[in-house]
Amino acid sequence: MTGCEQPRSTSIRVDSSVPYRLQPPSLVPSAPLVDQAPPEARSSRRRLRACHECDWLVALPPLSPGQRANCPRCGHTLATRHRQPAQRSMALAMAAMVALLLAISFPFVSFSTSGVGNRIELTHTATTLIGFDQPLVAIAVIMTIAVLPGLYLLGVMWLQLGLLQDQPLPASRHIARSLAHLNPWMMADVFIVGALVSLIKVSDLAQIELGLSFWAYCVFALLLLFTTQSIDSDWMWFSLAGEPLAPEGTRTGTTAAPQGLAGCPTCGLVNRLEASGRGHCLRCGERLHARLPHSLQRTWALLAAAALMYIPANVYPIMTTTSLGHSDPSTIIGGVVELIQMGSWPVAVVIFMASVIVPVGKLVALAWLCLVVKRSNELNAAHRTWLYRLTEFIGRWSMVDVFVVAILVALIRAGTLMSITPGPAALAFAAVVVLTMLAAMTFDPRLIWDTPLPRDRHATQGTTG
Ligand SMILES: [Zn+2]
Ligand SMILES: [Zn+2]
Repeated sequence: MTGCEQPRSTSIRVDSSVPYRLQPPSLVPSAPLVDQAPPEARSSRRRLRACHECDWLVALPPLSPGQRANCPRCGHTLATRHRQPAQRSMALAMAAMVALLLAISFPFVSFSTSGVGNRIELTHTATTLIGFDQPLVAIAVIMTIAVLPGLYLLGVMWLQLGLLQDQPLPASRHIARSLAHLNPWMMADVFIVGALVSLIKVSDLAQIELGLSFWAYCVFALLLLFTTQSIDSDWMWFSLAGEPLAPEGTRTGTTAAPQGLAGCPTCGLVNRLEASGRGHCLRCGERLHARLPHSLQRTWALLAAAALMYIPANVYPIMTTTSLGHSDPSTIIGGVVELIQMGSWPVAVVIFMASVIVPVGKLVALAWLCLVVKRSNELNAAHRTWLYRLTEFIGRWSMVDVFVVAILVALIRAGTLMSITPGPAALAFAAVVVLTMLAAMTFDPRLIWDTPLPRDRHATQGTTG
């Protein structure tokens, strides 16, 4: 925590040689591209933010609806301003909730072959797995496709209801804090892709009929995406708990950690840390660290566990198809080869990308980032941060194959004529997805931007206790 990094600017105002990138400026042609307030107004402790990805301290300029403020150093979005954020989020969350309720109330999809058939509801994709001794996979499926999104939508409605009445409802701050943590674990969009892949896979073997729930779930997935994008967390936290001033003497245009400060990852407020490099956010109560504790060690451990689980995920069958008494187990790669033989090239590519390229690419990319992070500098940091963002973004799409298993196991139940059972690889592969997602979360991208001096490295590790 020593000031071994030379501050670029000693004044409190933002380094004007690095203008804010506000997008899209065309929406509000007269909007200022930089904070055009008079200098005395700028030298305040109001609306300071430390970038979560590079730790750069800036003062947020006034934003008009449709604009967003990006970090001048790494390009990370610091705040996005929406038009009528409360009304918008409320309307979208309510519509998404209705679509989710419809999706769990009606038949999802049915199949029939030679006069024998089966019809399933959305929740059967999880409950059938429990019958095959796969409770963990079942929990992962039902949580990511229905329970967590449902809780998220209820949370959004509760929050916005309070904000619309100018009187936040009880527990609003806890809920607002939880919403940010739920976000990556909601996988309605991935489930839709999984459903399409499963249906194409069996379309040659049986007649498939899509139920009302299927379409309702598609609408729900879309509305859920819009709801998460409609949240203006900067405005929401200001409305919930005001904006306490940043600590006295905070300098912008340099990094926060050498000043003993940290930006809150949830609400954005800049807080002073204790000498140990830890603290709690004054506004939302979130735990703060100068750098995530043991970030590299934890990421390595999770990567090692994921790499280990990737072996059984590929060696064991992910599902077994039984047709007229003949059992045919298939591994992940075997499934891809089968699809190519069937001539379903696009589906084979989707499964190959989701089950091989994404998890392996993510393991390699994160391991490489952990290796080179101490040799990063301003020249290569932007590319490395971009790679980190990519691994964080694509990680959840690996769940496609797990959802395919869940849907096919529930749907294809026609006794000895044809049935599909889950294999041990399903659990191993679900574990790979969860472990790599956790690995991306424990990796602290701010380390990429830290000055690679021995003293600094020592300080960083010192704070991890
Ligand atoms: Zn940044
Ligand atoms: Zn906070």
